Amino acid sequence: MIKIENLHVAVEENGTEIIKGLNLEIKAGEVHAIMGPNGAGKSTLSSTIAGRDDYEVTSGSITFNGKDLLDLEPHERVGEGIFLGFQYPVEIPGVSNLNFMRTALNSIRGYQGKEDMSAAEFMKLVRAKANELQMDMEMLKRFVNVGFSGGEKKRNEMLQMSILDPKLAVLDETDSGLDIDALRIVSEGINRQRRSDTSILLITHYQRLLDYVKPDVIHVLAGGRIVKSGGPELALELEEKGYADVA
Ligand code: ADP
Ligand code: MG
Ligand code: MG
Repeated sequence: MIKIENLHVAVEENGTEIIKGLNLEIKAGEVHAIMGPNGAGKSTLSSTIAGRDDYEVTSGSITFNGKDLLDLEPHERVGEGIFLGFQYPVEIPGVSNLNFMRTALNSIRGYQGKEDMSAAEFMKLVRAKANELQMDMEMLKRFVNVGFSGGEKKRNEMLQMSILDPKLAVLDETDSGLDIDALRIVSEGINRQRRSDTSILLITHYQRLLDYVKPDVIHVLAGGRIVKSGGPELALELEEKGYADVA
């Protein structure tokens, strides 16, 4: 699915190197988690996968289903099936949640050579997905994330993910600030997206999310590199001993 080799990434503005030789391969059907201390470069990695232009790849490669990802514009990466969940989901005043998702879905379908989904079919899909996430349809008529609580924003992000149905979902601190009920709902959303033909990259500080979503592989990112990889037991070890002693 995605293969990252010897990746080096610098901040565009001042040239500071943040990612310093990172290697990572996630196959279809796998869930990987990246854990690491604050400032390790976790969000820089997810922004680089998304193609945000405040970061410059100075060397290395990212291949996504055989294509050179770094050659693609951000919207093309979305079209190829990459979804990025943000630590702080953006508010978009003036744009309804429903319109936002329908536009996003149809632009991805367009990129993939498919016709627009009809309004009726789209509403049917949204109703089913909103129901799974226990979201009120009223929330879907509101402006994107405007006035939503932290938990509602994350739930909305899960709704977007399930409607867009990406091949690779990169979820950056999706669990931060969630109460236990919201955490459970978000985890169920992630687990439903977990299939033999999808990959998921969870980026998280805490073991807590990993009680609900069991990754196949856990990596520790520190100082811009993956310094350790292991099975689910690694999360427990990190929780117990802290990053400094494990990595
Ligand atoms: P994490 O998500 O692991 O907490 P980040 O990737 O957000 O870490 O940040 C890694 C380091 O890079 C931090 O020291 C941060 O201050 C720095 N950094 C990230 N983005 C920028 C930027 N646009 N300009 C300057 N420094 C940045
Ligand atoms: Mg940070
Ligand atoms: Mg971060």
